[in-house]
Amino acid sequence: MPTRFDDEADVVVIGAGIAGLGLCCALASSGLDVLLVDARKGPGGIHRGDSLVPRSTRLLAAWGALDAVRAAGAVPIERIEVHHPTRGLLLEGPLVPDGVADPYLVLPHADLERVLLAEAVRLGRTRVLRPARLDDLLRDDRGRVVGARLVTRDGGERAVRARLVVGADGQRSAVRERLGVEVRRGRYDHAYLGLEAERPAAYRDALRLHLHPEGGVLVMPRPDRVGLGVLVEAGGAPRWTGMSDDALGRALAARCPLLVGTRLLRGRSHVYELTWSHARRYQQGGAVLIGDAAHTTNPTAGQGMTSALGDADALAREVGPALASGGDLDAALARFERRQRPINARLVRQADLLARLYAWRGPLGDAAKVLFARALGSPAGALLARGLTRAFLVPAEHALARGGASRAARSCADVPMRRPQRSLGRDDAEPSSPPAPPAAPLLPLAR
Ligand SMILES: Cc1cc2nc3c(=O)[nH]c(=O)nc-3n(C[C@H](O)[C@H](O)[C@H](O)COP(=O)(O)OP(=O)(O)OC[C@H]3O[C@@H](n4cnc5c(N)ncnc54)[C@H](O)[C@@H]3O)c2cc1C
Repeated sequence: MPTRFDDEADVVVIGAGIAGLGLCCALASSGLDVLLVDARKGPGGIHRGDSLVPRSTRLLAAWGALDAVRAAGAVPIERIEVHHPTRGLLLEGPLVPDGVADPYLVLPHADLERVLLAEAVRLGRTRVLRPARLDDLLRDDRGRVVGARLVTRDGGERAVRARLVVGADGQRSAVRERLGVEVRRGRYDHAYLGLEAERPAAYRDALRLHLHPEGGVLVMPRPDRVGLGVLVEAGGAPRWTGMSDDALGRALAARCPLLVGTRLLRGRSHVYELTWSHARRYQQGGAVLIGDAAHTTNPTAGQGMTSALGDADALAREVGPALASGGDLDAALARFERRQRPINARLVRQADLLARLYAWRGPLGDAAKVLFARALGSPAGALLARGLTRAFLVPAEHALARGGASRAARSCADVPMRRPQRSLGRDDAEPSSPPAPPAAPLLPLAR
């Protein structure tokens, strides 16, 4: 029986995380009618990463949303520091290379979702339906996706016709599952404990990393506090979340002396278990996957939001004109996949390498990371630094340029990236699973 549609939109976006919200902002200038659907009642919830690297702030500026992000209290950070509990300060320097005007900003994830939602509605024709979840994809006689059946919280069903359905619904994507798209994935032997703390008096805004043989602690600024990312063992959630405040305070202070005497704020604390994944394909007749629905990276490299926003920008550039002018949508989707797939495969692989190295625990891993951090302060380190900057931080055209000459030698903005010891080969290669202990140390970047 033919479907009776209750609603119609040019694009239905399933998922109002950073990928879905970014897409709504990126499509705003095309004048398309976009229906944004999310199973959660509103933005917010637990911490899911808060770093907007220059590559991402460039996109937000292009969409007209960067001023709102700043106005919401985003903190610019310009410096990186690497400390060790017994060896002291190993390295400090600028985070963003000379000549890059786009800022590195930090904003709690929930605030970022709130701002981007408001901007999507303000800038374009975005309508929001939440809480509502995808029940199924609707198809025509030839199997092409022509819309989505949604279920609202009260159990009501709504069939929405759309020329394009976008799965921006995270790593357990229902859209991907309904499309029958396979995904390759692997797990890590480490996880991240995320929590907040009162701002230590000695802390100056910086991406501040405390190396430790049992797992590093990353300290990032929040408007009135600091955010902490603690490397812990996979499956360690019961141990870490079950600790008393005193016991947790002692454990963290042992790894990061900056936190001695600092009150922990555990309200939104959680342990984030880690996987990498990459969908076998991104698009299929009238539907497409972006963000974590298409790929997930280890957050050590801080690329989850960056790659979600990159997908959103690339998809809007391809399908915006096709949808607005009645062009060939399938050709536009195919171009999107051809463009993004190698970029994302490389990111998954590079983040995997960085994560293995950062998660190398024990005395040997510790000594190697200390050595490596010190090497970064040498003139030769600047050469390595450019690789990491190019991989994770700056917009493409800066990736091709050399950083500021005199400053570069000590600049962690040009944070070094070693050549992978075990090459994963072609751009569409992915990490092996499970990850092996790292062969050599590497300096971690922001989450
Ligand atoms: C628990 C958690 C913690 C994280 N922590 C970090 C971190 O510390 N650092 C880091 O770099 N990255 C982290 N990430 C990843 C990072 O948040 C994402 O890579 C990035 O924000 C891109 O997100 P996304 O929009 O693709 O997916 P998500 O942020 O997962 O958003 C998906 C959205 O889809 C909605 N949804 C799911 N299924 C349905 C459905 N059937 N119907 C309707 N809506 C649906 C969800 O409610 C959600 O709002 C975390 C992710 C999670 C899930």
